Amino acid sequence: MSKRYPTYLFFGAPGSGKGTQGVTLGTLPGFFHCACGDVFRRLDTRTELGQRFLEYSSKGELVPDEITIQLWRESIQAAEANGRFKPDVDYLLLDGIPRNIAQARLMEDIIEVRHVFHLSCPDREKIVARLKKRALKDNRLDDANEEVIRRRLLAYENESKPLLEHYGPALITDIDATQFPVKVMKDILDRVVEDRKES
Ligand code: ADP
Repeated sequence: MSKRYPTYLFFGAPGSGKGTQGVTLGTLPGFFHCACGDVFRRLDTRTELGQRFLEYSSKGELVPDEITIQLWRESIQAAEANGRFKPDVDYLLLDGIPRNIAQARLMEDIIEVRHVFHLSCPDREKIVARLKKRALKDNRLDDANEEVIRRRLLAYENESKPLLEHYGPALITDIDATQFPVKVMKDILDRVVEDRKES
């Protein structure tokens, strides 16, 4: 197996702002951003895989691990093949994956997790309000229904949050996701600069 991809994980509940931060940092040289939800949303919904995605996401459930990891691998390999992702110079910025411990294990041979940015927003009502706003702006059906939002938050609590223990405190920076987005970015950049100094 060749060298594993050095990776930063953006971690947090739906609506915590991981996508905003990932996209922004991903515009700079030396980073490649990949949001797992976007990989799924790019699928043709007439295909079997596209239909499976709709089936799960419309209920607020996670897509099964094997399918998810396979699709994600293919998407990264395609980005590498067409030169958008240059693993010898780019750090991978992942958002929305891994989403549970089983996925983290399936990815262990491909990524080297350098750091986890945990965008924390304990105020769930704030999160629900953000998601409803996003539903209107981005035409996201899974954000429009409060019942589905609640189920996604539950999936985050039960399935994703155990990842924080899996990676352990030395790899994690907790960031207050309710801050002004530029302040969230500053907190992330401070840690990235520290990390790059050491490497
Ligand atoms: P959010 O972070 O707001 O939940 P995403 O765009 O990351 O939204 O994901 C939307 C949906 O796509 C999820 O509810 C889930 O059904 C599916 N999905 C995305 N990433 C994963 C993943 N790593 N594993 C399983 N399902 C996923």
